[in-house]
Amino acid sequence: MLFLFKTEEFWYKIFYRQMNFRHTSFTAKFFIFLAVLFFLIGTFFSIKKKNVKKQNELDSIFAEKISDLAEEKKLPEEPVQLEIFRKSYPDVSFESFYDEEKNDWLVKISAPIFPDKEEKKQTELWWADGRLLPEDELENKNEYWKLIYQYSKLKDPKEMNAEEIEEVRNFSSSKNRQTSQGTPMFFFDFLYAAKSKVIIEDHISYSTFLGKSTKIHERIKNPLLNVETRILNLAKEDPEIDGFIKNLKSADAYNWRVIEGTGGRKSFHSYGIAVDLIPKRLYGKAIFWSWTRDKDPKNWMLTPLEKRWMPPQKIIDIFEDEGFIWGGNWIIFDNMHFEYHPEILKGK
Ligand SMILES: [Zn+2]
Repeated sequence: MLFLFKTEEFWYKIFYRQMNFRHTSFTAKFFIFLAVLFFLIGTFFSIKKKNVKKQNELDSIFAEKISDLAEEKKLPEEPVQLEIFRKSYPDVSFESFYDEEKNDWLVKISAPIFPDKEEKKQTELWWADGRLLPEDELENKNEYWKLIYQYSKLKDPKEMNAEEIEEVRNFSSSKNRQTSQGTPMFFFDFLYAAKSKVIIEDHISYSTFLGKSTKIHERIKNPLLNVETRILNLAKEDPEIDGFIKNLKSADAYNWRVIEGTGGRKSFHSYGIAVDLIPKRLYGKAIFWSWTRDKDPKNWMLTPLEKRWMPPQKIIDIFEDEGFIWGGNWIIFDNMHFEYHPEILKGK
């Protein structure tokens, strides 16, 4: 039996006789071979084509899913106003991180402890629609104004209608001023080191402004010096400016105090970044809303502009140009008052 396996006869029986190929010509065999070959190649390509199609389908489904996910997770754009803060305070860094859970931006702020010194201090505040609040104040967000507000020229009281007049009356009532919204001071407390009188006084220095002695925060030393230089230059050729300087009684800035009738809110004089320019003579004109209110509680807001003491417009322009807003533009007018807020002016 074993022998049989190895004989030619065995293979002959298996292939040629049983499959009846014995008499098939070579050409026929060749064509059968080709047909089989084509069949195999065809099958191979059709499977491959199917696979490519399937792969394309999968790819497009995958791409769609990815873009859906990206859409869902699309990070909001950083608030535009943060850039205004960066431009307003070039030595301060503002780094923002979006927090999905809070749906708000955490702003990491770093500033020199003393201007022009290396050593830095850091804080983290939440953007809170332009309020810069600490985490535990986020729930009280609506008690605060936005830091950058619309600063524009005062509306002439002649153009105010009855409704607007009533609004000012309510806004300035002592009851409202106790409970109403206020400026969120957290960023300024950090920037000017205004946690307490003792701490901030390390940053307050004696200075002079237009010949009057004053105490200011070291951070406004340069902008205020720029204002003074420009006013003095202008006074050389402009008698109105010269007269303004000669009629100046005082230029008080730093004074640790709370805003009258607000239940403890600090004034920007407490930060040494607000200056009051008080003239020697007012010639019967109004200069501060609350002093006028004492005389005319009902209609103080209607005091015509020409009956209010005004610094020359050129002086106001110079202050604004150097980053100081003027209190004469507020409804509750404070015409002697200039306050350093480059972010409000750059955000106009
Ligand atoms: Zn003031």
